[in-house]
Amino acid sequence: MTAPALPPKILLIENDPTTAETIRAALATSTAGTFELEWVHQLSEGLARLNDKGISAILLDLKLRDSDGMDTFDNVFKVAQDIPILVLGCVEDEELGRQAVTRGAQDYLPPAHWDNFSLPRALRNAIERKAVDDALFAERERAIVTLNSIGDAVLCTDTSGHITYLNLVAESMTGWGREEATGKLLAEVFRIIDGPSHKPARDPLEMAVEQNKTVGLTVNCVLIRRDGFESAIEDSAAPIHDRAGRIVGAVIVFHDVSAARAMSQRMTHAAQHDLVTDLPNRLLLNDRISQSIFLARRQRRSVAVIFLDLDHFKYVNDSLGHAAGDRLLQSVSGRLVSSLRSSDTVSRLGGDEFIVLLSEISHPADAAKSAVKILQALSAPHFIKNQDLHINASIGISIFPDDGADADTLIQNADMAMYCAKESGRNNYQFFKSEMNQRSVKRQSLEGSLRGALEREEFVLHYQPKVNLETGEITGVEALIRWARPGEEIMFPGQFVPIAEDRGLIVEIGRWVLGEACRQARAWQDLGLPPLPVSVNVSALEFRHKDFVEGVRTVLAETHLAARYLELELTEGVLMEDAQSTVATLQELKTMGVHLAVDDFGTGYSSLSYLRQFPIDVLKIDQSFVQELSSDPDGSAIVTAIIDMGRSLRHMVIAEGIETVEQKANLQARRCAEGQGYLFSRPVAATQFAQLLRTGITEPLLN
Ligand code: C2E
Ligand code: MG
Ligand code: MG
Repeated sequence: MTAPALPPKILLIENDPTTAETIRAALATSTAGTFELEWVHQLSEGLARLNDKGISAILLDLKLRDSDGMDTFDNVFKVAQDIPILVLGCVEDEELGRQAVTRGAQDYLPPAHWDNFSLPRALRNAIERKAVDDALFAERERAIVTLNSIGDAVLCTDTSGHITYLNLVAESMTGWGREEATGKLLAEVFRIIDGPSHKPARDPLEMAVEQNKTVGLTVNCVLIRRDGFESAIEDSAAPIHDRAGRIVGAVIVFHDVSAARAMSQRMTHAAQHDLVTDLPNRLLLNDRISQSIFLARRQRRSVAVIFLDLDHFKYVNDSLGHAAGDRLLQSVSGRLVSSLRSSDTVSRLGGDEFIVLLSEISHPADAAKSAVKILQALSAPHFIKNQDLHINASIGISIFPDDGADADTLIQNADMAMYCAKESGRNNYQFFKSEMNQRSVKRQSLEGSLRGALEREEFVLHYQPKVNLETGEITGVEALIRWARPGEEIMFPGQFVPIAEDRGLIVEIGRWVLGEACRQARAWQDLGLPPLPVSVNVSALEFRHKDFVEGVRTVLAETHLAARYLELELTEGVLMEDAQSTVATLQELKTMGVHLAVDDFGTGYSSLSYLRQFPIDVLKIDQSFVQELSSDPDGSAIVTAIIDMGRSLRHMVIAEGIETVEQKANLQARRCAEGQGYLFSRPVAATQFAQLLRTGITEPLLN
């Protein structure tokens, strides 16, 4: 049971006892509930009483002994703003009473209303209305505080689209203050467009009203602030109903999604582009190829896929570090982009592999032209880390519809053609041919087994003597690698060294060769055989490796071989690739006491001026010239030139690939000092070579 409500306490501030009595009597005989009346005579007493709580309503005469007129009301109102005040007055005071009402009084009661019916009702109404007002005010306050503290912008309109309300966020996002915006048409304050097309977006209010439900607005919506600033927004609109369910307006809620949208754009970009070069990646490329194929089919045109792999890129990465490698890739990417049309797509697959898509070609020859352009564009030096880097590329080309009908096949076939370009000497391009498939399968399986070959100890060295052409004496020996897999035929370096170079495996293999050759040379010496220098072939990647010189030093120390018994054979290409640093490396080796030879001399394009700088001991005339000696007069001219050059530079000259007695005689006549070739001995196993050393080379040498 709840306690019965106490009767409301009414404070009567009244000077005149007669009026006070009338009031008292009216309340005592009230027909609308009971009241408790407190009567004070003047303003000061009233104000004092109001300091204490508990008053539900005030009946106030404005004419008091200590106060008169509107002052009376103002003073009471000041201390009793939350208590309803009813002003009592005589008929003449009606104007004053009305004024009091405009300043906050609840009611004005002329004497005619001082009866036991009207007065209690007026008091009850005033008290109840006050309670309702208080509740409404609190609710409104709560709503406003809420609307201003949420992160979303809120904007309300009436049915005709005129703004009726904006919260603080809406003010700052639209650039319109509430006062100014109120009454304006929505479209003027809330200017939205479709981001991509820049066309006006659909009126959210219209949609909400039309569908009579909450609607999400167009995606990619952009709000234009009053000063023109654009922000991406996401928003929704909902109709507002009155009690009868009629739409009386709408509320639009929106928030800034610029950051989120920018982030999602960044993420989409990142997912489709390569981090280092910012070129499209495989994902986007596949898309573009598919799209080009689709169009080419319709227009009966061709599409070319150009697969490009940088030659010896690994060397840059290993010797100069990843940062320089990345810079080189960026430089390459720049050259590719600028040497092609904007309708072509240049993309990076990762590593040193790029793919160019020529989306509209009329003939395969167009692709060849682009390939030549690319090779030319790349060949100029790339200035990186304060030095000029030279890099070439091998290119494979596949054509839609001839070489494949989808992106994967075209890429795969272009890749295969690229391998053939590498095998045929790098820095060139090849079109895909169907025979390449078989070779590629073989190559892949080779690549796989090559990886474990060192651990499985499948490599062996064979040794071929170098011979003094005059005396037939063995003056040196060249170590040549062979790959002997159980159950398979012996494989020669031409078949696997390029693959090992390409996959970077050559560095490790080379280290093994060097160790094994030195160990063997020392072992022969330990057997009491005449000490001989052993030659080891070094490929570019090994020579450029930052640890190469140290590796040589270590091997010599570990195998106890004197440096003068080691000769390194380098091809012209290796020497010329980066002449400056080559000189430095050669110098270090030379200081160590190691001998240096230029292998396959004459096939490259050595510049004589460079050759002069290199601390070289030996020139090895390439076997192709030796073989042409008998038939081709030009061949003999070159051989003569090389021999003369060697003499003038004080280099030893040795001829490779001597197979016949005539060749030998021919060389001898040209005063070539040494030779190497099947005529004297094929490359043989170490034990056989030891035998050869013991017996010496006999016939048919000395004829
Ligand atoms: P290269 O250094 O010019 O070696 C000479 C090649 O000619 C050897 O082939 C040898 O067997 C062959 N040859 C020798 N005399 C004659 C002859 O009278 N007639 C003919 N037709 N050929 C003769 P091989 O062993 O197949 O080696 C081929 C190339 O592979 C070498 O050319 C060398 O560049 C490379 N190579 C060999 N061993 C290694 C190695 O351990 N490391 C590296 N990086 N490359 C190697
Ligand atoms: Mg050699
Ligand atoms: Mg050679």
